[in-house]
Amino acid sequence: MPELLADERAFVGELVGDRPAGWDVSGELPLDLLHKLGARGLLCAEVPASFGGLGVSSQDNGEFTAYVGSLCSSLRSVMTSHGIVAHTVRRFGDRAQRRHYLTELTSGKIAGVGFSEPGAGSDLSAMRTTIVPDGDGFVVNGEKKWLTVARYADYLLILGRNGDGAAAAMIPADTPGVHLELVADPLGCRAAGHANVRFDDVRLPADAVLGGGSQPLSMLFTTALSYGRMSIAWGCVGIIRACLQAAGSHVQRREQGGVALAEHQLVRRHLADLLLAEQISTRMCEQASRSWDATAPDMAVMAVMAKHTSAGHAAQSAATAVQLLGSAGAQDGHVVARAFRDAKCMELIEGSNEICQLILAEHALSITG
Ligand SMILES: Cc1cc2nc3c(=O)[nH]c(=O)nc-3n(C[C@H](O)[C@H](O)[C@H](O)COP(=O)(O)OP(=O)(O)OC[C@H]3O[C@@H](n4cnc5c(N)ncnc54)[C@H](O)[C@@H]3O)c2cc1C
Repeated sequence: MPELLADERAFVGELVGDRPAGWDVSGELPLDLLHKLGARGLLCAEVPASFGGLGVSSQDNGEFTAYVGSLCSSLRSVMTSHGIVAHTVRRFGDRAQRRHYLTELTSGKIAGVGFSEPGAGSDLSAMRTTIVPDGDGFVVNGEKKWLTVARYADYLLILGRNGDGAAAAMIPADTPGVHLELVADPLGCRAAGHANVRFDDVRLPADAVLGGGSQPLSMLFTTALSYGRMSIAWGCVGIIRACLQAAGSHVQRREQGGVALAEHQLVRRHLADLLLAEQISTRMCEQASRSWDATAPDMAVMAVMAKHTSAGHAAQSAATAVQLLGSAGAQDGHVVARAFRDAKCMELIEGSNEICQLILAEHALSITG
């Protein structure tokens, strides 16, 4: 990791300290901490320095994301959502929009993204929210589900239909007609600020809609989801590392049967599984980041592969770590208990296990004859 991110890592480590367990139990992150990280460009570190970001590679941002993921998946989820917004603005915004929104996103403003709707989960082609021209601007109507970060957000990037095409709108969260309802008691990433959001005749100026607002829907969500998959994949590497660390140190300290748990062969097998999970997921993420940094033709499918591999290994590793800690890890707020709930959610989002498998099967068919 370059020196620059080593400094930033120390900065985050200092700010976060031992607070994630408390955030998990209270279900809330401190807003001032998000603003501090945002204002240093750390929530979207790949944004070029000319827009206030750090301009780092996917690989370096990935290792940084893994570090944050090892501390707190709720905070890492904020990074993922905010980063998706920045990436989508970079890809679809015009020059003035890139200048305006990217500068906002690296100056402490916080953003989340809304794809999912009551009738559109895995199948985003069923999306019904509309973002349509109205006078000099646009009007938004619809309902989005489970927006990470919504509770803390200054902006919500919302995807919707515009005639035969689609549009992505940067909506200030305090715009009249935006109604938030927090998701009660989420299974995991409990402090990530999830909310269901309704948009009733939300009026926006024309420049709030990225690139004029006429893109193919699938191109919009695939672009946004690909960044999200890279970020989640690396975040899951962090979860696995936290589990390996917690389990490895516990089994050397705790004695049962007159010896340390680590002396029992069946316990050692679990440690081997954890180490392998960490190595396999890291290597997969590195490979996907190399494709991402080279804008290689396979970058989207590599992001799916990395996300699917890391999320599956994180869910399994968290279960293994809870098993190894026994009752010591079976309490709300404990690092492995959090990991167990957080990692399960990673198998559901940004393409569930099944959706990732379908995409990978399609790819397998395309490269075989
Ligand atoms: C912690 C968390 C954070 C989230 N954050 C956001 C966010 O920031 N923004 C946002 O827009 N959304 C967010 N979501 C919503 C998330 O994107 C959806 O939950 C996800 O897309 C799955 O949709 P669904 O829950 O409606 O499940 P469904 O699509 O109903 O799927 C249910 C089950 O059926 C399976 N399934 C569905 N279709 C198929 C198929 N064709 N073949 C085989 N199996 C299938 C799925 O794999 C899954 O196992 C979040 C959700 C969670 C839990």
